[in-house]
Amino acid sequence: MTRKKSLNQAQETNTKRPARLEIKNTKTTNVVKSEANGRKRSTNIKRTVETPPLNYDLSSLIDAPVFHPDEKEFNDPIEYLEKIQHECERFGICRIVPPASFKPECQVADGMRFTANNQYVHRMFRRRGTNSCILEAIHRHLRELNINYQPPPCIGGIEVDLPGLYEAVQDLGGPGHVLENNLWSKVADTLKIPQGAHDRFSKLDSIYCKYLLPYATLSDEERKKLMHKIESQKNRHLTDDEDENECVVKGSSMPLSTFYRIARNTLSVWFPNTNSSATDASDLDPAQVEAAYWKLVTKRVAHVRVHSGNIDSGQSGYGFPCNKTSRHPWNLKVLTNNNGSVLRSLGPVPGCTVPTLHVSMLFSASCWYRDPHGLPWIDYLHTGADKIWYGVPSLQESVLHQAMNKLVPDLVKGDKSVWLSSDTVMVPPTMLADQKVSLSRTIQKSGQFVVVWPRAFTSSLSTGYSVSESVCFAPMDWLPIGDACFKELRINNEPTVFSLQQLLWSIAHDSRSTVNVLKRVLPILKPDVDEEIQLRSSLRDFGVQQWRKLPVTSEPSSKDGKKRRQTSVTDDGEMECEICQASLFFSRAECHSKADSPVTWCLMHALKKIKDHPRVTQHIRVFYVHDEAELRKTVQSLQDHIKSKALRRAPAHHRSSTL
Ligand SMILES: [Zn+2]
Repeated sequence: MTRKKSLNQAQETNTKRPARLEIKNTKTTNVVKSEANGRKRSTNIKRTVETPPLNYDLSSLIDAPVFHPDEKEFNDPIEYLEKIQHECERFGICRIVPPASFKPECQVADGMRFTANNQYVHRMFRRRGTNSCILEAIHRHLRELNINYQPPPCIGGIEVDLPGLYEAVQDLGGPGHVLENNLWSKVADTLKIPQGAHDRFSKLDSIYCKYLLPYATLSDEERKKLMHKIESQKNRHLTDDEDENECVVKGSSMPLSTFYRIARNTLSVWFPNTNSSATDASDLDPAQVEAAYWKLVTKRVAHVRVHSGNIDSGQSGYGFPCNKTSRHPWNLKVLTNNNGSVLRSLGPVPGCTVPTLHVSMLFSASCWYRDPHGLPWIDYLHTGADKIWYGVPSLQESVLHQAMNKLVPDLVKGDKSVWLSSDTVMVPPTMLADQKVSLSRTIQKSGQFVVVWPRAFTSSLSTGYSVSESVCFAPMDWLPIGDACFKELRINNEPTVFSLQQLLWSIAHDSRSTVNVLKRVLPILKPDVDEEIQLRSSLRDFGVQQWRKLPVTSEPSSKDGKKRRQTSVTDDGEMECEICQASLFFSRAECHSKADSPVTWCLMHALKKIKDHPRVTQHIRVFYVHDEAELRKTVQSLQDHIKSKALRRAPAHHRSSTL
């Protein structure tokens, strides 16, 4: 993966939220090609689940706590967050309203380009409703006629709801009547085509003729046959279109100005009487948007596509400014280097320690999600419409898991640690509350922060165009949580966005690390080092002979331009074991048994391979940066350092008794 982008192009990430970079897992759909007919077939055994009625009663939700720190309290963010954590961890999320003096700049440019995500609102909860079946029948017929329907037709940047257009024309007396009497203005009103699109009538006419007329001119018998085919495929969970199994898919690249125009049109479609300026506060009641959204999501009658974008702010310099005059500690580009966050020793990791900029529009959402590393994160709404947040605390995980299993069994991955992939599902919070999930809600206004606590689940919904920015952080108390998360991820063969060993190693060698942090690092790092030494010795015992010590490389740190000691077995720190997907740091084993590219394993899995197939031994090369003596030395000096600090602090009589 190359990180170098042209200077005038914002760097893009796949992240919805921090740390989603490589976590998106498409396994939920398990679409494979059936060899016999080349069709895609889902391997999941799907269960049909009734959709419970949507009773949108907000009183079943709990208000997340809100904090109003004064100027004095609003100084060190990590210190402040540590102070309030115990009070609000049981809500999963909280909102922070900064003092009025906090007015940071937000740097964005109309020309800022990014790859937008397409979000299909009607597929957010259950994938296929009646509208999807009609659309599939239309698509199938077009395919039979060799008519290309990708990209889908748009007016004013908004995708036209083809089944809706078909119905609207039928309701007005059929295509003959509509074309003859030029009733496109009536059709446009029914479909709520944005009024700003001046050529909307002629566009509707040509879209209808190209994409729907062939389908409309089929006999009832032929259409019935087509629908029957689609229905029976639906029951067997076959689909012609792989994207139909996803609710969020990668869309096209667009500049911010285009995104904004689509956002403005989207708002005018659904709320035509609203002030649609992006920066002005809208008079729209967020609860009204919320109710309309969940109705669209659960009813699945209309075909609604909206967009969102996630942009790596690190190299582009968008979002919070990076210059010397903007060094407020709550500026997220400053916060990520706060003394209290152990992640700062890791250096810049896009989607994790480098803030991500999020652009949203009406009805664009962040699906239910939690950071797989158990990291807390913070989101600042720079400008635009309110964002509604839902949170479920870590303690409620099993209740939430049960509820999700009941409501969306096809989208939940058994008992894995990451049982909910990112960009997978939006479940109405009231439905979760009905299943006894303790769920909190808050409305973030522009200029406010939302904090998501370790291992909490969240989702959010935008009520209009907005720009926000988020970043992960980690107080030292996160270290044992992170250790448990990384272990679980490895057992489940799930990828991580960084190596925990690399983080621990960096903290141990970081002169800024306090003794309290080192005390938490030691009990995690020592067993890892012991295991590494043990594995190397076992590999030698089993006959591995090719060992290569790699030089310690130093890379310039992007933040301060100073050289940072980066020590890893991979050039860019992104190499993973092909079996457990662990990010490799201390060492990596390469198997060169085949002529083409070698296979990379962690030492544990290399040893397992050797035990299962002794013949691979001769093909294995182990690469490492630090030899065993260096590994031991790091642990020893960590122990010595902690001991010396403890001695210095202990009173004299106590000191003599311990000696
Ligand atoms: Zn492995």
